[in-house]
Amino acid sequence: MRYIVALLFIIFFQSVPAGELKIIFRYDDYSRNSNTDVERLLFDTIKNIGGGVLVGVIPFPHAPYPEPDSIPKVADLGEDKVNLLKEYASQGVVEIAVHGYSHKSNATEGSNSEFTGLSKNTQNLLLGNARAALEVTLGFSITSFIPPFNQYDLQTLQSLESTSYKLISAALGGPQESTGNLTYLPGGAYPQKINEVISSALASGHTEAIVVIVMHPYDIIESGDQMSNFREDPQISIHKLINDLSKIKKRNNVHFMTIHELFEGGEEFSVLNSSHKCITQ
Ligand SMILES: [Zn+2]
Repeated sequence: MRYIVALLFIIFFQSVPAGELKIIFRYDDYSRNSNTDVERLLFDTIKNIGGGVLVGVIPFPHAPYPEPDSIPKVADLGEDKVNLLKEYASQGVVEIAVHGYSHKSNATEGSNSEFTGLSKNTQNLLLGNARAALEVTLGFSITSFIPPFNQYDLQTLQSLESTSYKLISAALGGPQESTGNLTYLPGGAYPQKINEVISSALASGHTEAIVVIVMHPYDIIESGDQMSNFREDPQISIHKLINDLSKIKKRNNVHFMTIHELFEGGEEFSVLNSSHKCITQ
């Protein structure tokens, strides 16, 4: 069993050699509707700084759920979106995660969630088929999951295990199983705060930590999307983000890493003592 344990926005684990603050990216809500030009620029920037990004892909945005006898075999992405993912995945920059089936919320109360409260059969059907359709469409294996709205329940974890997922990335506070093979990768700092988070981590000597920067299309002005109504941050220009990242790249004790690099070697992630100072946004 592998764990990554997070203290708010910084993840600490003991198996990475000390001395560098590690930074990885997560980008949610990639779909046939998201802005391809912005995404190409973003992926290219991450490639140029030597980093990697876990891309949460919505295979069937806004689609009704399938009947078991009429399951779509191919994701509804479109040729441009498929080619962009293939191009950067083949270079080791992009790692794909399933980001829900349709990304619609099924919650009748509380936080929005696609999966929380759904039956075992429904979660197995949606998780298994979302993944299978993306694998057929893209032509490679996918083992990561990002729950829409960062919300899931214990059944989601069991369904992920039974449909052979290996990693879940969500906000802190969700359930975790004490047994099983899932890796938990919490996110993360938003791109508007990247300079503050990195500076604060370095000033505090947290060079044994990993920062997961979580981005959505609506974070970026040029996406054409409105900022989410539950976020108070202003949107950021893609050019400011590129500029910020190139400056961070030049700092000492900072290392952008790929998702593959994060997991290669199959490290045993372990709990660090909880007296570490938490770094918040
Ligand atoms: Zn989402």
